[in-house]
Amino acid sequence: MHDHRKLGRELGLFDTDPLIGAGLPYWLPDGAVVRHALEEYIRTAEQRAGYRHVYSPVLGKRELYEISGHWSHYRDDMFPPLDLGGEQVVLRPSLCPHHAVIYRSRSHSYRELPLRLAELGGMYRAELSGVLGGLTRVRAIHLNDAHIFCTVDQVAAEAQAALDLIGQAYQALGISPTRYRLSLPGPGAKYVAAPQLWRRSIELLTEVLDRSGLPYQAVEGEAAFYGPKIDVQITDSAGRESTLSTVQIDFHQPEQFDLHYIGADGGKHRPVMVHRSIIGSVERAVAHLIEQHGGAFPGWLAPVQVVILPISDAELPSAAVLARRCADRGLRAEITGPDRGTLGARIRQARLVPYQAVIGAKEAVQDQVAVRLRNGRRLDPQPADDFLARIGALIDAHHPGLWES
Ligand SMILES: [Zn+2]
Repeated sequence: MHDHRKLGRELGLFDTDPLIGAGLPYWLPDGAVVRHALEEYIRTAEQRAGYRHVYSPVLGKRELYEISGHWSHYRDDMFPPLDLGGEQVVLRPSLCPHHAVIYRSRSHSYRELPLRLAELGGMYRAELSGVLGGLTRVRAIHLNDAHIFCTVDQVAAEAQAALDLIGQAYQALGISPTRYRLSLPGPGAKYVAAPQLWRRSIELLTEVLDRSGLPYQAVEGEAAFYGPKIDVQITDSAGRESTLSTVQIDFHQPEQFDLHYIGADGGKHRPVMVHRSIIGSVERAVAHLIEQHGGAFPGWLAPVQVVILPISDAELPSAAVLARRCADRGLRAEITGPDRGTLGARIRQARLVPYQAVIGAKEAVQDQVAVRLRNGRRLDPQPADDFLARIGALIDAHHPGLWES
């Protein structure tokens, strides 16, 4: 596996600058293309699965986190509060409290549940500078987050549906998890005290995992402070394991924020909060994708999807026409002309681009392309329209393969 820090810099995806600060990477144009494609995929998948997207601010009053429990259980990982004329605000360590307040801002009938609120939003962690690096240990995190407000009876189905979304995303991204982990509380004061609620949450998650047929390990001391989790673990190039995706059950924050819905009986009932993330933070997801694929991203994620290679200057006009048609079709294409070297040299330069469309004199006249795939496979010259239709369909479907559907 490749080190994403080295490769990310070489490929011009992201970088850091001491003047901006450690753990605060910025995204270069090609990295921003990958991130945008990933965010678009997630947003669409969530919309189809019945999630509603919201936006909420990255700051909140200290009181918000005192209510949620972050202030007492998680303060060491938070940035110090900012004083604003007698009021203290903090950079948020998670999105949950904002979403709980958004839920509470309207009254809800049991008919609206499960209510799934999603946001790809910023959150902050006061990591020490010694442990920071690349996209995996950062101080500013953009999390693919969602909170499902539902009844206890709906929790198992919602957790299962979240696991299904995770499985689909991993397939499209071409990544495989190291293991599924049932993360349980351990000894210590790190966890909120509510033994019967912990028991119930653990039972529910165990039931979901057992029914899913996925192999998993139960590990103590890895739960969130408010509840147990299913964590999907990945391994980086240095062999270190970390959590990418997660599904969590929380009885604590609904209690703290006094959330309720009106039941069929007309009375007030407490919903459960299911916290879930499909791809985790975009930082960690992209770091893993760089390492897993060595920069050769699945076609739908690649910064450049088609490199157009005119054999001589005479084919430059045909190359420009093909580039225009790619852009019209929503494909990211670039022309690398003869001024950039021999055809062989240009093909080597473009070795991470999924599709190389070579245009010689014959192809130019017949409106064809001679296609080479990134894996070295060469295809017979074919009509440019057929080529664009085929790869367009694979990319639209977020297919992990290059040619066969
Ligand atoms: Zn949450």
